[in-house]
Amino acid sequence: MSKTIQAVRGMNDILPADAALWEFFEDTIRDWLRAYGYSQIRTPIVESTDLFVRSIGEVTDIVEKEMYSFEDKLNGERLTLRPEGTASCVRAVVEHNLLYNAPQRLWYMGPMFRHERPQKGRYRQFHQVGVESLGYDGPDMDAEHIIMTARLWKLLGLQDVKLEINTLGSSEARARYRSRLIAYFEQHADVLDEDAKRRLHSNPLRILDTKNPAMQSLVEAAPKLMEDIDEASLKHFERLQDILRSAGVEYQINPRLVRGLDYYNATVFEWVTTRLGAQGTVCAGGRYDALIEQVGGKSSPACGYAMGVERLLALLQDQDIQPPTLAPDAYIVHVGEQADRMALQAAELLRDAGLSVVLHCGGGSFKSQMKKADASQAHFAIIIGDDEAAVGEVSVKPLREGGEQTRVPLATAVDLLSE
Ligand code: ATP
Ligand code: MG
Repeated sequence: MSKTIQAVRGMNDILPADAALWEFFEDTIRDWLRAYGYSQIRTPIVESTDLFVRSIGEVTDIVEKEMYSFEDKLNGERLTLRPEGTASCVRAVVEHNLLYNAPQRLWYMGPMFRHERPQKGRYRQFHQVGVESLGYDGPDMDAEHIIMTARLWKLLGLQDVKLEINTLGSSEARARYRSRLIAYFEQHADVLDEDAKRRLHSNPLRILDTKNPAMQSLVEAAPKLMEDIDEASLKHFERLQDILRSAGVEYQINPRLVRGLDYYNATVFEWVTTRLGAQGTVCAGGRYDALIEQVGGKSSPACGYAMGVERLLALLQDQDIQPPTLAPDAYIVHVGEQADRMALQAAELLRDAGLSVVLHCGGGSFKSQMKKADASQAHFAIIIGDDEAAVGEVSVKPLREGGEQTRVPLATAVDLLSE
């Protein structure tokens, strides 16, 4: 036997037993986004490497060490499997001039790729649902994003997710803060780890995002960005809080929340849970007013967020939330030549009526077929022998709810099951 080939480390199969939860989640997401008037955008999984370097920032975890980048051997292009969705979305909006005369409310869903150390809640292929509103500058849109996610948690039945918000201010404010931060970290150079030393002058804000436990107290005592924030960003932030309060959404200001990507300004937020260990952030986003221009478009304000689907599903599982079952309405058991023909006809008729039907394939005795019907979790078995087929009837046997087996004309069976 030849050696088996396995999936790439950190990239998961989603098997049928788990797919029901994924489908429940995806169905909920689609209805929820429609309720807020968002349109879907689908972009390629591969983009020019430059797009991510330029938008996410050269000195970030993602660009420094997490991207799957490669050269297309056929033409020498430098390409990358998308590590996140915002850059691609903005690229597409600019390329197709979607902001020409109207702002856009967009969403996407799909796999993202980051070369990280695989562990619970952290994979190399994972999935995000992302929402982006382009062409909106007010805090009303930041608030809409937060309020809609709060509704999604309710729709899903999620508990124990808490909202943290912060403001990063203008780029001038961050420049002022940057020098204060460098001075502070320089005073404590002995505590800095390798990453932090490397970033001290290139991207000191990123140090605040460290996951190294040995640096937590240093980072906690660091100067706060809030003291450098500009007037306009402060106003924006206060207005956002007003709206959240009047919508009854609880939040906490986390002055250390800076986010791992460079394109954010003003509002940033995260929804965090304590149930998933270190991988507690299930949804994160904020404002990125400079990104569209940075990617080559006409300057336009925007904000958005993305949620990690695997982490949300892990939370649902942790809370024992069961998706609605995807069991078929009927399983058709049939033995005999005439019965086979009628079974096919019955299956299509039932499907015409909107029912889900599994037609037994592969022959076998009534007994062995009935076992399969039971195992399928179907609500009913429709049993057809040549006796039944000869007079256009079928036997209907309830498999779950109990009750008698009845023999009725096919049309009556369709009515019975459609009730
Ligand atoms: P973290 O701090 O956990 O590394 P991040 O800041 O890198 O997260 P974002 O780029 O903001 O994450 O992505 C948004 C969401 O996508 C995260 O909050 C998380 O739920 C999810 N996510 C990010 N990276 C992974 C991954 N490798 N595996 C699974 N989910 C992920
Ligand atoms: Mg990360």
